[in-house]
Amino acid sequence: MFNILIVEDEETISHLLEFNLQSEGFKTILAEDANLALLILKDFVPNLIILDLMLPGLQGEDFLRIIKAKPEYKDIAIIILSAKSQESVITTLLAEGADDYVTKPFSIKVLIAKIKALLRRIEKKHNKIKFEGIELDFDTFTAYNDGIQMNLTTKEFELLGLFLSNPNKIFSRDELFTKIWGFDDQIQTRTVDVHISSLRKKLSSKSNLIKSKPKIGYGLIL
Ligand code: CA
Repeated sequence: MFNILIVEDEETISHLLEFNLQSEGFKTILAEDANLALLILKDFVPNLIILDLMLPGLQGEDFLRIIKAKPEYKDIAIIILSAKSQESVITTLLAEGADDYVTKPFSIKVLIAKIKALLRRIEKKHNKIKFEGIELDFDTFTAYNDGIQMNLTTKEFELLGLFLSNPNKIFSRDELFTKIWGFDDQIQTRTVDVHISSLRKKLSSKSNLIKSKPKIGYGLIL
């Protein structure tokens, strides 16, 4: 699940953002000003910040410079959401590290599409795959099903990773055995069936994502 910090002093806008982002499955946290946002960041590092510029006290531009100077915040994506529409402001802030700039008035649908596109890029950089609520993190070898960590063996994780990386492809048992176990052995292909069956059990309600093709093998079919 992705966490989004909203830095916005206008209540109508922050409520609109919170409502729409939460209904898209994002977790949101709101800061009405940039100083409060800096305090929140000490305990909570979001995946993305939606940043207004004209704020009471510390301005959005200064907040951006402060967090861009801190290595611990380097992975946070930032979308500026502001009524300032001058070219010079937009180009400066993009050059200073903002990932995108949306001017007010704005379309909530376009903003959400931009957020999703940005988060997809982050996910790729972090070596993660997400599909139908199943999330695999290849850096830590952990898998989640609707946010709950799955208890997979290494081989089960590798099988699921192979299927998720190649949707709509049926792998033969031989192929799976060679790819996952690393050598070719006709007799051992039964091992594949055993692991698939155990993996399906662990996927519980999503077990039917992995389809078997009689006499051929298995694949994740949409
Ligand atoms: Ca404002």
